[in-house]
Amino acid sequence: MKSTSGPDYEVIVIGAGVGGIYQIKRLSELGVRATVLESAPDLGGTWYWNRYPGARFDSESYTYGYSFSKELLSEWHWKERFSGQPENLRYLNYVADKFDLRKHMQFNCRVDEAHYDELENFWRLRISDGRELTCRFVIMTLGLLSSPTLPRLEGMSSFRGRSFHTYYWPHEPVELAGKKVAVIGTGATAIQVIAEIADKVGELTVFQRRPNWAAPLNNSAISDAEMAEIRARYDDIFATCARTPGGFEHEPDRRGFWEVPREERVALWDKLYDEPGFGIWLRNFREIFTDEKANAEFSEYIANRIRQRVKDPVTAEKLIPRDHGFGVQRVPLETRYYEAFNRDNVRLVDISETPLVRVTETGLQTTAGHHEFDIIVYATGFDAITGAFDHIDIRGVGGESLREKWKDGPSTFLGMMVHGFPNLLMPAGPQSGSASTNYPRGIETGVNWCTAFLEYMWDRGFTRAEATAEAEERWTAHVVQMYSMMLMRKAKSWFTGYNSNVPGHEHGRVRYFVYNGGAPKYVSRINDVAAKGYEGISLSTGQTPPVGSAPRMHSLAG
Ligand code: NAP
Repeated sequence: MKSTSGPDYEVIVIGAGVGGIYQIKRLSELGVRATVLESAPDLGGTWYWNRYPGARFDSESYTYGYSFSKELLSEWHWKERFSGQPENLRYLNYVADKFDLRKHMQFNCRVDEAHYDELENFWRLRISDGRELTCRFVIMTLGLLSSPTLPRLEGMSSFRGRSFHTYYWPHEPVELAGKKVAVIGTGATAIQVIAEIADKVGELTVFQRRPNWAAPLNNSAISDAEMAEIRARYDDIFATCARTPGGFEHEPDRRGFWEVPREERVALWDKLYDEPGFGIWLRNFREIFTDEKANAEFSEYIANRIRQRVKDPVTAEKLIPRDHGFGVQRVPLETRYYEAFNRDNVRLVDISETPLVRVTETGLQTTAGHHEFDIIVYATGFDAITGAFDHIDIRGVGGESLREKWKDGPSTFLGMMVHGFPNLLMPAGPQSGSASTNYPRGIETGVNWCTAFLEYMWDRGFTRAEATAEAEERWTAHVVQMYSMMLMRKAKSWFTGYNSNVPGHEHGRVRYFVYNGGAPKYVSRINDVAAKGYEGISLSTGQTPPVGSAPRMHSLAG
């Protein structure tokens, strides 16, 4: 165990994705002794890992990028309205290089343990390379969809072809021409990958357990002139994102669903179906999310669109969800996904009728027969929201385990702090505003709040911060109450903690993972807490003085 002369860092940030990059930018500006630990060989988080064909934003690129620097906004040219993974990763690298952030990042550093040391009032982190690092504050920017999960099928390691989860799609090109390829899953990832590879493979077989509602992305290139127009509008764009529930430019139609004649409703949907992005979900009537009858009418509209696009009526019916309505799960956006099923080399296997039994040396066995493959792609999703936290042995006061505390679902204060885990911050944690909105908009909100909070502490000489049990209870009750109004609480999706591949998460026990109140309400709540001197957080000077008398004056290391 290390000596008690003080921690190695004032702040350690875990994760160098969109959140970690911005967090270290803010800390570096303040001159705080801080470092970022990242398990991957390089920065980028989601956009470092997900290299599967078709991976791209479904947020408008210019609402996804960081808003914090006018200079950056004026320099970066988004080439497509919904930019693809290679460009997105280039962007994050550009940001890191522009602000000289890479020197504060350590790669190939997986954090296995984070233990709060009560006596010293600092965190001890055990790193996969054998080191122990200590810090006063630990900031977790782990990503909400960063812990991929595989089916629990017999024989998976016996397959002699190539197989991978989409998250771990190989970095070198994968030869697809002439190959027999299986894709398991029909979530947002699968829907992108299937549409992209259908005309590049020999044969494609899609194994679908439950269909998802999807609608067209309607992507297009952004010309120089359009980019100039977007740049001129940036202030307005971000102001709109800040006032909409989802953090997008899309604003809900505030007319009452039942007050608008049916023909007008359909006219709106016809228009939205052809527009880019999430408009079909977020510019729609608000009752879509709360009123079963309204939702059913709109779902039938989308079902008919699927019937129009898929030639074989049996396949079309199989692609239409029956167990949930449109928009109560996260809506995947697609580019010619449904048309892929009109191709002779693509077929759909409904594994709700004939389940997968095992993986064999040469393919997949269902209850109906055996399918031979060269490549199996697992597009089977994530142990969402809390999965990445569960991978670290996080222990707070009295050795309490966070994994244990959250085993039936997270409880937090503002989605950013946890009672019993002092000095641990999560700018975009479970139950924060980030998870259910345009991620980077929520991330910037969270990072700014956490940074202001740390400044508040440093300015006043506080060294220990812990959310009170009552504040956490109140926030979690508020999060639960927000779910009660939403149809999504009934859906079997990662929004409610469902994942058949994670023990204990199979049977749809609702986990209150995300804040459903929308971005403006979230921001107003967290700002209110700050304005009241961080009400709900107990602040003290801890047992030891701050690291150095003026932590902001320390030079950066790492
Ligand atoms: P997902 O939505 O959880 O979908 C996983 C799919 O795999 C589902 O169809 C699921 O079927 C199926 N599956 C899982 N385990 C299975 C098993 N053992 N046997 C058979 N099928 C199985 O995961 P995802 O598609 O990776 O998307 C997750 C989230 O990532 C999205 O909702 C979105 O927020 C984000 N995402 C964003 C983008 C973007 O921004 N452009 C792109 C992709 C993903 P069931 O439905 O029956 O469980």
